[in-house]
Formats: sequence, structure tokens, C-alpha cells
Amino acid sequence: MPATLSTFRTQVLVIGSGAAGLTAAVAAGRNGADTLLVENAGFLGGISATLPWLGFHDRDYRMIVKGLPLECCQRLQAEGASSAFELDPKCGSAFSVNSHWWKIIAMQLVREAGVRLMMHTQVVETLREGDRITGVIVENKSGRQRIEADITLDCSGDGDVAARGGVAWEKGRTSDGLVQAPTLVFKLAGVDRVGFIAGCKNPAIKYREWIAPYPDLWEKMMQRIDRMNVIICGGYATLIEHARAAGEFAVPQTRIVGVKLHQPDEFLVVMTRVLGLDPTNTASVTDAYTRIYEQIPILARFFRKWVPGFEQSYLGEIAPMLGVRESRRILGDYVLTAEDLVEGRVFDDAVSMGAYHIDIHRPSGTWVDSHNVRAYTIPLRSLIARDVDGLLMAGKCLSASHEAVASTRVIPICMGQGQAIGTAAALAAKRKISVRDLSIATLQDTLAAQGAEFGRTVGEPNWEAIEEVGQLPFEEPPTTGDKDAPSSMRNAWVADPVTAPEK
Ligand SMILES: Cc1cc2nc3c(=O)[nH]c(=O)nc-3n(C[C@H](O)[C@H](O)[C@H](O)COP(=O)(O)OP(=O)(O)OC[C@H]3O[C@@H](n4cnc5c(N)ncnc54)[C@H](O)[C@@H]3O)c2cc1C
Repeated sequence: MPATLSTFRTQVLVIGSGAAGLTAAVAAGRNGADTLLVENAGFLGGISATLPWLGFHDRDYRMIVKGLPLECCQRLQAEGASSAFELDPKCGSAFSVNSHWWKIIAMQLVREAGVRLMMHTQVVETLREGDRITGVIVENKSGRQRIEADITLDCSGDGDVAARGGVAWEKGRTSDGLVQAPTLVFKLAGVDRVGFIAGCKNPAIKYREWIAPYPDLWEKMMQRIDRMNVIICGGYATLIEHARAAGEFAVPQTRIVGVKLHQPDEFLVVMTRVLGLDPTNTASVTDAYTRIYEQIPILARFFRKWVPGFEQSYLGEIAPMLGVRESRRILGDYVLTAEDLVEGRVFDDAVSMGAYHIDIHRPSGTWVDSHNVRAYTIPLRSLIARDVDGLLMAGKCLSASHEAVASTRVIPICMGQGQAIGTAAALAAKRKISVRDLSIATLQDTLAAQGAEFGRTVGEPNWEAIEEVGQLPFEEPPTTGDKDAPSSMRNAWVADPVTAPEK
């Protein structure tokens, strides 16, 4: 073991290259800071490289995420590697992405911004001097290295830097600490689009439960569905009941959740599920993977046998990483709440926006709990770690309640936060000041000049789209399904001799 570790120095250090970290690093680089991006995986984009992007628009169909996230969409469109924006009454909008192209464009963006990269590199310790976070220790094939930074951005999704630096965090719901159920997504290929849409048109199938109770909305959807490039599904409950009764559906899931992607024969299945996961415990995560790899063949067979349009479908691709919807949330100078979202609060220090509904995949039950929100702003204070200097965060680990993060977690909203903290960090690092001492007007003017939206140019409701697509009522009836599924469906990792920690 060498006596001293090799040391790297940087102004802005970004941990994690998901939706949040990628845009944070690009924004910091573009704003002139020496920036280093550390990523544990062998590709850039994190979970955003496995999913369609939902929620660029609010329920009035106004675009409320712009700037760098929108530029990412335009780069994909220029390569013919995505859909157009598909407006949607529940999700605002959907944008289907060719994941492989997204990984390529993500790399281009990082290189063009002059950001230095360390791949397959994991943060294992946080450097802290008094109340200041000063960098991290990482490990990779080259061994251990020390990275010193003026400002560190925790975009790990798990709040790893904060947790290892003794910064306060919370995890899961207040009642029992359980987080939203995770899902490893996979794609089915060989789907017959015409047969699939015919199934959607069958009212008995109820392919989209949110829309089904509203005849006017349903009618509008049916008028558009043949030409829609992205079709979001959340329903088919009766088919699943039949398959379960036939002994062919041993998965803790009661709805088909998935998206017909823009590629004509591809469908993304968002249905594997483990109840009771602890995403910061390796034994629990390992157990989740073993369970999920048992679920994937069950689901693939279910689609082929039971779902219209999937008769010739086959397993196309399994995502490279478990989709963790919620993990540690770092406590910041302000904790964003569900009320802030529902009321559409406008903060003085707003730096980005969101409008996606609160979408909680029940931690110990089936289906989801949902609540609609108004277009809301995200304050810089909820992106600055509390009681320390030198640490910002964005994405899943921002400072928000369990309920609020169930909205802010979607990809465009994470990207908007990333652009905000990358820009703030660069401006502060260049001035050699704390982000807390940065003039909010300077930051907001810089973000506005770079196209970001935080409430200045949202404009009037898009009446034409409201007429064509329709709107769900703001208050919807509660969803059905089990709040708590039988304990047999819960994660039993502690009892597993292979993955349980040694005594
Ligand atoms: C199953 C599922 C379905 C979803 N569906 C949608 C959808 O359809 N549309 C949508 O818009 N949103 C969806 N979301 C939400 C959204 O995808 C994520 O919340 C969002 O992408 C999170 O971005 P992030 O940057 O915070 O985290 P991540 O994408 O998790 O990125 C974190 C990155 O940090 C790296 N990392 C972690 N720890 C370390 C470490 N210690 N050292 C170095 N690197 C590290 C990881 O490898 C990863 O690349 C879904 C989420 C899930 C889980």
C-alpha cells in the first residue's frame, strides 16, 4: 500500500453521471470551471439511459423544463434517435429515447464541455475538514486516489458523499423508512404495434386506468392513439388476475406498467418489483437482483401468452442497472414538501422547475399512490447540503420529503436541477466563494441566459393542446390495489444464507 495516495485537484467535482450529474458536469464545464466527473458504471447517463423521459410539460401542456435538458432532446432528435414530445394527460409529456444514442451523446456533451472523466470509479470515503467537504477518496482498477475539490456535487442518487461525510440525510417514508419499490426494466422486441393498439382500444382491457373513467379524455386518446409514437400503459388488471389465477404470474404487481417506445416493435416493461428493498444495503440489493431475474422470464411469458400484440415478442434487452426510485435524501437548507408542489410554490431562489405528479410505487404494496401537482419551482436551498460548506446535490438525493421526491425524481426534472447546481458551483468556484454567498440574481440571470426555466418564461396554458389532449381533474379518486401486500412478497434478504452478512 503506497504511503501517499495519488491526488487529483479540481474546482468542481461531480459524483455520478445520471440525469442530474451529467447535466451538472456539462453546465459546470461550460461555465468555465475545471470539472471532474466520477462514474461507477461503464457508461454515462445512469438510469436515464434505460427509460423514456417523462414530464417536460405541466398539466397545462406548457414546457417547464428547458435549457440543457431540452438541448439533450434536440441532439437526440437531430440523430433521429428519439420520438417527438408526446403530450399526455397524466405525465405532461413523454419523450422516447434510443438509449444507445443517448450514451453516445452524453459522452459527446461531456467531452465538448472539457469535463475530465473517471469511469468505473467509486467513491468510498468523503474528505471533510471541520464543516467543509473538501473532496472524496475513490477506488478503481488503479487503486485508491484522493480527489480534492472546491465544491463537490453529490449526484450519486444514493447520497453516498453526504452519508460518508457525516452530513444529515433521511431515507424512505416517515412511518417505517421503506423506500419506493425498485424495478429492473427490460425491453420486449418483436411487438406487433397494430395488434397492441387494437388491445388498447378494447375498453374491457383498460390499458390506462387513469384515463378510463373519463369518457371525454378516453375519446380524445382513442382519436390520437394510431399516430402516437409513445404510448404509456398502466392497467390491464383483469389480464393479470387471470394469469395469476392460472398460476402464471408470481410477481408482486397488479398492473401492466410499461411504455410502447417509438421504435415500432419495442415495448419497455416496468414491472419487476421487490418490496422492502434497502438500496444502501448490498445484501438487500443482491437479493433484489436474484428475485428480479426470476421475474423477468415470468413476465416475458405472460406478455406472449396474454397480451394483445405480444404473441411473437421476445426479450430484447435487460437494463444494465437496477432502477432505484428512492434512496437517501440529503437534508438541505430547505426540505421541499408535497404542499410546495401541490400549491405550485414559486421560491425567490428558484433555479429549476417540475410538474410531474407525485408518483409513489408503494414500498410494501402493489400499484401506486398518486397526487397531481401544479407547476412548481425548486429552490437552490434544497440543493445545498445543510450544516456544511462545499456540498451540493441534485437528482434523487435532493432535499425533499418522501412524497415530494416522488415527483422531482423524473429525468427532465433531475436534469434541470443538475444544470442549476453545475452552474452555481462554477460561478462560486471561479469567485472563490461559497455557493451560499453567490448572488441569486447573478445565478438566475446566468441560468436564464443559458435557456433554463425557473418560472420566468412559462407563459399561458397551451389551450390548443388542452382542447386536443384533454385534462385530468386535479383531484382524482385514490388508486386501488394493496397498500400492503402479503408478507410473502416482501424482501426476505436477511434470512438468505448466501447474501446475508456474516455473523
Ligand atoms: C424503474 C424506474 C422507472 C422510471 N421511469 C421513469 C420514466 O419513465 N421517465 C422518467 O423521466 N423517469 C423515470 N424514473 C425516474 C428517473 O429515471 C430517475 O429518478 C432519475 O433518472 C434519477 O437520476 P439521478 O441522476 O438522480 O440518479 P441515477 O440515474 O441513479 O444516477 C446516479 C449515478 O451515480 C453513479 N453512482 C452511484 N453511486 C456512486 C458512487 N459511490 N461513486 C461513483 N458513482 C456512483 C451511478 O452509477 C449512476 O450512474 C424511473 C425510475 C425508476 C427506478
